[in-house]
Amino acid sequence: MKCPFCGDPNTQVTDTRENEDGDVVRRRRRCVKCDKRFTTYERIDLKMPHIVKRNGNRTEYDHAKLAGSLKLALRKRPVTTEALEAAVDRIEARLLSLGEPEIPSERLGELVMKELKKLDKVAYIRFASVYRNFADVDEFSEVVREVQARPRRRKGQAGQPDPEHDLFGN
Ligand SMILES: [Zn+2]
Repeated sequence: MKCPFCGDPNTQVTDTRENEDGDVVRRRRRCVKCDKRFTTYERIDLKMPHIVKRNGNRTEYDHAKLAGSLKLALRKRPVTTEALEAAVDRIEARLLSLGEPEIPSERLGELVMKELKKLDKVAYIRFASVYRNFADVDEFSEVVREVQARPRRRKGQAGQPDPEHDLFGN
């Protein structure tokens, strides 16, 4: 670590301490040349990877979008919100554990399919059948929303809000 005062590349670590949680290391350093002191901090760098779509565009990982896609696939299926959230948590933990700055969207799609397969076979087939024809996980939501937006037969309740649509943010 070079000295911030004189730029000399030779500095000595005089003290090293971890914080209480053990996730930050603080080091006191001394410049060998000018004898000035400074402190550096070392932290774990855990970030969600960017998602690289098949067309090459990079997008930020979006928790709400991923959860929304799983919700859509699990619509009217006997799966609790807790189970859905746990699945999203597992996908995110997996993404973090890769330690990659970016991953292809296909990889994310595979992780979603793996979780859905464990949760509910119908939801898995729903997702897989739509997803396989489209490039990306967030496109899955768009396609399903389009299908839902088509007029449906109602029993004389025009003007009433549709709770399902609200649930999915439509
Ligand atoms: Zn110095």
